[in-house]
Amino acid sequence: MTSYPEPLARLVENLKSLPGIGNRTAERLAFHLIKLSEQEAVDLARAIVDVKKNLTHCKTCFNFTEVDPCPICRDAQRDKTVICVVEQPKDLMAFEKAGSFKGVYHCLLGHLAPLEGIGPEDLTIAALTRRIEAGGIKEVVLATNPDLEGEGTAVYLRDQLADLAAKKAVRITRIARGVPAGAEIENVSSAILTDALTGRQNFDGGRR
Ligand SMILES: [Zn+2]
Repeated sequence: MTSYPEPLARLVENLKSLPGIGNRTAERLAFHLIKLSEQEAVDLARAIVDVKKNLTHCKTCFNFTEVDPCPICRDAQRDKTVICVVEQPKDLMAFEKAGSFKGVYHCLLGHLAPLEGIGPEDLTIAALTRRIEAGGIKEVVLATNPDLEGEGTAVYLRDQLADLAAKKAVRITRIARGVPAGAEIENVSSAILTDALTGRQNFDGGRR
């Protein structure tokens, strides 16, 4: 087996480090990239560097943004009394694409996964608690994925926030079961996401 020239081998190796890219796909992409014009190659490389340099997390909702607070948190038209809690910014994007949610968001930046050592302190739960404590919130919609970790995270949040929610008269809801169990929000159609939001139900674990 002949080996690639060093720059090509390095490109293939780097591409392989991306999620979902195996050896064959990395090679196919690499051979495509070789055919780019110099300008196209520079544009692509710059786009990668720019997202690293210019994107940060909104300090309110932890969405990716160029400016802090992000455009959603700054938007006077959004209903700041309803917070939709999602795992990742890409879930937020899915809800935004569906276009039916007019409130604001909170990105946890993950889900609880005790076996992988991911605990509450690794998520943005403290920041969410502070947002509720600050007041003016009427509803927190738990929109974590309907899989094992997402459900576990929703139940943890419900229990964790129960007393504070009761004190502040905040309703805690969970998106409806329209989202197939085990599905990932980012892959669910806009119509189903809209139904799931519309049909959201109280999620109080019988504590009220
Ligand atoms: Zn924000």
